[in-house]
Amino acid sequence: MGTQQAFGHLDADCFYASAERVRDSFLIGKPVGILGNQGACVIAKSYEMKKAGVKTGTPIWDAVRLCPQGVYLKRDFRWYEVLSRCMLDLVRDCCAAVEYYSIDEFFFRVTPSTSLQAMAEALRDRIFRELCIPVTVGIARTKTLAKLVSDTAKPFGAIALLDRDAERSLLEQSPVTAVSGIGLRRAARLEPHGIHTCLDLIFADRKLVRSLITRSGEAIWWELQGDPVLPLHVTRPPHKMLSRGGSLGVAASDPLIIDAWLARHTERLVEELEYHGVVAGTLSVYLVYKDGREGLARVPLDSPTDRYAALMKAGHQCLDRLVSAGSAIQRLHVTASRLQRPGFVQRSLFEPPEDPREADVASLKREVNAALGRFCLRSGATLPLLEVYRDSAGHGYEICDVHGKTCF
Ligand SMILES: [Mg+2]
Repeated sequence: MGTQQAFGHLDADCFYASAERVRDSFLIGKPVGILGNQGACVIAKSYEMKKAGVKTGTPIWDAVRLCPQGVYLKRDFRWYEVLSRCMLDLVRDCCAAVEYYSIDEFFFRVTPSTSLQAMAEALRDRIFRELCIPVTVGIARTKTLAKLVSDTAKPFGAIALLDRDAERSLLEQSPVTAVSGIGLRRAARLEPHGIHTCLDLIFADRKLVRSLITRSGEAIWWELQGDPVLPLHVTRPPHKMLSRGGSLGVAASDPLIIDAWLARHTERLVEELEYHGVVAGTLSVYLVYKDGREGLARVPLDSPTDRYAALMKAGHQCLDRLVSAGSAIQRLHVTASRLQRPGFVQRSLFEPPEDPREADVASLKREVNAALGRFCLRSGATLPLLEVYRDSAGHGYEICDVHGKTCF
């Protein structure tokens, strides 16, 4: 077993609740519920809270009834991201090739130098020892099998499963929906053909599987056979676009308020462009009006940029096309596309040189906010949203502002 090539999957156990316990040991052993953006729903919970019947998505008023002794906390994605990166560093320290799959899940290729079972246990134990985060590790012949193994080994499990009989019995016990990539709709398509378990799936005809659940389903078929066809994504493909936006909370028709939201989302977009080291060639604004209608306008930028002033100018041009007097806006999103790395930007002959003061303002903003807190120094256009910025618990960070929440 020690010399086989294999894949590992590491998944933190109730990650958000575990992350809260890292910084507050009072929570250890208690039912912990993590609440979403508006504090209305439980988005993650500890095993103790799960036992009380609280599910992901349960509204807070039902959760409190089901689990009155629970401790309910508002999510803090910035903190979770810090721990996620620490986990990534540790996994990279142990394994040569690592895919960051989600904030608390990693795939890795196993270096065949030691006992794989010992390796799975050592990795799990090291992460718990150094970060106090309980994780489960599965090792198998393919990524799909490794994830299936770790899902069934939870919590705090570590299993290297390469024995063919053990693999087969796992497939027999696992419904097709246990595999990532087969949801209820795909399972319903397989069901009339007598395909209920993963074992049924691997015995089914490959072409039939493909016709029922497409090429991605066929890849699962190969993977469950032990044939690794899904690549390990060690680096993230570059973004095609970056976007920031969301609901205005209360629909607004006042141009000053709409402008303030445009400024807020544009500043968030600038952060994101700077983080990824890209400049935008096009800016678009997408609106949802209070009556449910939608609108989209797109403006090419004079030269590719990540500067606030240039993006705001383009944003205003979009708004001019979209907003007529009195229209009430419910949602507003700004999107940067035609992204390029600054060094690869082709400059036009007639392009005016950049005003050096803009670069100074951008770097001052970055420095002040890094030292004093996000949005401490921001555009005056955001003044009508004082309440939004004051509510640091609710709006200091947004769910979608987590860098690397998905694979990067
Ligand atoms: Mg997890």
